[in-house]
Amino acid sequence: MRKALITGITGQDGSYLAEFLLEKGYEVHGIKRRASSFNTQRIDHIYQDPHVEGQNLILHYGDLADSSNLTRILQEVQPDEVYNLAAQSHVAVSFESPEYTADVVALGTLRLLEAIRLLGMERKVRFYQASTSELYGLVQETPQRETTPFYPRSPYAVAKLYSYWITVNYREAYGLYACNGILFNHESPRRGETFVTRKITRGLANIAQGLEPCLYLGNMNALRDWGHARDYVRVQWLMLQQEAPEDFVIATGRQCSVREFVRMSADALGVTLRFEGEGVDEVAVVEAVADVECAPGVRVGDVIVRVDPRYFRPTEVETLLGDPTKARERLGWEPEITLEQMCREMVEEDLKAARRNALLKAHGLELPLPLENNHG
Ligand code: NDP
Ligand code: GDP
Repeated sequence: MRKALITGITGQDGSYLAEFLLEKGYEVHGIKRRASSFNTQRIDHIYQDPHVEGQNLILHYGDLADSSNLTRILQEVQPDEVYNLAAQSHVAVSFESPEYTADVVALGTLRLLEAIRLLGMERKVRFYQASTSELYGLVQETPQRETTPFYPRSPYAVAKLYSYWITVNYREAYGLYACNGILFNHESPRRGETFVTRKITRGLANIAQGLEPCLYLGNMNALRDWGHARDYVRVQWLMLQQEAPEDFVIATGRQCSVREFVRMSADALGVTLRFEGEGVDEVAVVEAVADVECAPGVRVGDVIVRVDPRYFRPTEVETLLGDPTKARERLGWEPEITLEQMCREMVEEDLKAARRNALLKAHGLELPLPLENNHG
């Protein structure tokens, strides 16, 4: 049985990758952080009781800030494949916590690679590094491909730039089978609540159910190449199954603005929006409501989206568009889920949660999660 070790298993990608590898028959080990409350919601459905025999999903406490812990886990697990997905992954937060972001994102990768080398596992282990389209930042070429020069625009992206190059360096210096997946934004109903797509689908679902009056966003003109996380974890595995290690751009090749994603999400709720004004004065007004059951909380003429400059970034990545030709030709990979399908899935899941919360509220009961989208 092949063994995989996933850092960041409790995150969006980690949870989908764990599911994918378990289906492939792997023994999956994951590193989770100690937190003061449960942080395993995304993997609770695949959790296995350690008291029952035949466990093939095993969690270890750990942190990318702790080299001795990483070394011990690697020694104990003896994995065939290591997927380094753990990160402080939020761009806006990285401006507030640049040093912590560098420690976990940049040095964390180094710690893991060094542990592999110190244990003499560099010829046994295959290593996947979660690189990012944020490396292109201020884009030098469109669409972006493997050869496009990098120009990172945030402490997060600068830290990921170090991780990218240290991964290349360990491949060249020590013969480690190590790959960078330069993944463009990918989303799902499991996306963190403060990334823009999830903030939109969750916020609009709450508004539709009368739980919130308005959604506040930052730069509505930003353009992203959004794919589905389920498609993107499949290719993480594919990269480690090749004869030789290489780096790949993973993207859909299609671009959409934040504003268009707002419109698409509202459409999925049966709410037609009209955008008025410009810059910080831009608002989205309800033009029509198709299904009162789905959106009892809104009326024609309501302003349900506004711009709040607090969500602007000191340096912004205005536009990203990837060229996934190499991945298609060399790995036979193509995304299977369209942006519309993904948006609809996210809206449906968030609407279910909003309906549950509306019911609780109607009965005077406490809501399980805060409704406010204050951060990110
Ligand atoms: P998430 O933010 O959903 O998950 C990040 C994971 O890292 C969580 O499990 C988190 O734990 C864990 N983590 C954070 N800090 C530490 C630490 N100090 N030690 C150990 N674990 C830690 O990210 P995604 O799943 O969306 O992304 C996976 C990876 O891919 C990340 O590295 C991200 O930067 C990168 N990436 C993501 C893209 C995207 O669009 N999703 C695009 C390109 C790259 P906890 O649950 O406890 O917070
Ligand atoms: P990123 O591409 O990794 O930064 O992913 P995000 O989902 O956080 O942001 C995508 C784009 O949406 C960026 O250009 C943001 O500036 C823009 N954006 C606009 N409004 C918001 C907002 O309220 N929250 C977040 N997170 N991003 C926003």
